[in-house]
Amino acid sequence: MANYLIDTHTHIHDPTDRELSAADTFKHAREQGVEKIITIGTDPDNSMQAKAFAEEWAAKGEQIFWTYGYHPNEYVEKDRANLADVAKMASEVLKSPRNVGVGEIGLDYHFDGYSTEMQQELLLEMLQLAQDNQKPVSFHVRDAFDDFWPIFDNFKLPTSVMHSFSDSKKNLNEALNRGLYIGVNGLSTFADIAHPPLERMIFETDAPYLTPKPFRGTMNKPGYVKHIAEWATEYYKVDFGTVAKITTENAEKIFKI
Ligand SMILES: [Zn+2]
Repeated sequence: MANYLIDTHTHIHDPTDRELSAADTFKHAREQGVEKIITIGTDPDNSMQAKAFAEEWAAKGEQIFWTYGYHPNEYVEKDRANLADVAKMASEVLKSPRNVGVGEIGLDYHFDGYSTEMQQELLLEMLQLAQDNQKPVSFHVRDAFDDFWPIFDNFKLPTSVMHSFSDSKKNLNEALNRGLYIGVNGLSTFADIAHPPLERMIFETDAPYLTPKPFRGTMNKPGYVKHIAEWATEYYKVDFGTVAKITTENAEKIFKI
């Protein structure tokens, strides 16, 4: 029985996103019962950094995995001409033994100044990549669900995840009805948001962002999954072992880790 936790969405491969050294980040995580970590790429260069980091630390015995991602707000006009080449190269690096998925990808209409047309163009390319390689996806969708669902429905993906969900109950149900799992993070410890049933939940930190209580105001790290799990024991009124077992087994099934 899985009695440890997993951080399924973090950004620890870039040293500027870490408070501690890589070695100490892993050590801290283990001390908190977080045994496996998935570090998430956010653009082509950043994803290659994630790959190198995961391969390096896996060789040293860490249970570290990575995903190839291209965040909607990282795709700018000058990148457009290269998109097909980038996708072709991504398809090659997905063969890395430590790769467990595609993401984060999605739509984010929260901030002005980003073309919705370009975001959708990128999302289509990345969904094709995930579908062709049958990789699970870590989705980032913010203030854009009306456009997102019709695009999502055109693809056949392995069981995937809506990361950092903080939208309406209606969109939560849209996600659950489509078989998506929900990545729950520190937001749950301080914000009033809709929550999935425990059976459809996995944990993530999204470190260095979204630090859970009681560490608000400091940099987040994978070990803090423990505090999200503790929040869940209170919210769902179940013991820690049950929370760990369900969320960890979900993550292991989805990402095959
Ligand atoms: Zn993220």
